[in-house]
Amino acid sequence: MTTSHNDASATMDLVRQRLAEAHHVCILTGAGVSAESGIATFRDPDGIWARFSPQELASMDGFMSNPDRVRDWYAHRKAIAETAQPNAGHRALAALQDVVPECTIVTQNVDRLHQRAGSRRVLEVHGNLIENRCNDCSKIRTDDEIMCPDCGGLMRPNVVWFGENLPADVFQAAEEACRRCDVLLVVGTSAEVYPAASLPYVALRAGATVVEVNPNQTSLTPHATMAIHGTSADVLPQLVPESV
Ligand code: NAD
Ligand code: ZN
Repeated sequence: MTTSHNDASATMDLVRQRLAEAHHVCILTGAGVSAESGIATFRDPDGIWARFSPQELASMDGFMSNPDRVRDWYAHRKAIAETAQPNAGHRALAALQDVVPECTIVTQNVDRLHQRAGSRRVLEVHGNLIENRCNDCSKIRTDDEIMCPDCGGLMRPNVVWFGENLPADVFQAAEEACRRCDVLLVVGTSAEVYPAASLPYVALRAGATVVEVNPNQTSLTPHATMAIHGTSADVLPQLVPESV
């Protein structure tokens, strides 16, 4: 017990030191970062997919067979995200950008909480809940139009659904950031959804220090340079003392 406590605090010290020396820090985040803001994760036992069918709610087929149901579900998630507040983990990551020369957040989250906490460079690899996109001309709108006023196409949530490609320019920028960073923090993601889950390996191959922050083991844990077992809102403020 004492040994593991000492190991954990030595790991925290080492990560703080690597962050202090880093020129470019990149952070890959997943649903776990927003769990302490009251937004459910997907794959945990009480997560969203334990209660709803991904095929019906997050696929083009599901949308085409019942657009109203899918729109209602996204309107509901958008309302939850807008009511939620960024937590201490989001705030610590926003504070980090002011103490390292370059800081990039790559998020799988669609809730906009990083931006609301003040993070400036956020790459949304799975889109977001705030925007809708025309299925035909790809025009983005933030109103509730069902048909695109420009071309008459069907407006859909601007999120990446099962079977769809990630926005190519955003994902390329994310890969580039992972290739160039000195430290990659991987926080609150089950590291199971590809291609986002490949990013830690891009950073590892390029020689970066990869630090996982997650209360649970993931398939990445054995490969990470270091793993800190704890929650985002608890661990991140300890790694970025400037944030508290
Ligand atoms: P996931 O549900 O697959 O995994 C969540 C991970 O977070 C798990 O490994 C879990 O151990 C960890 N976790 C739980 N509580 C935590 C906490 N307090 N602090 C740190 N870690 C914690 O989520 P994922 O890996 O992001 O899966 C990707 C998909 O989930 C994406 O498509 C994303 O768009 C979507 N998603 C987003 C939101 C959001 O925007 N908030 C919510 C649910 C799902
Ligand atoms: Zn259109």
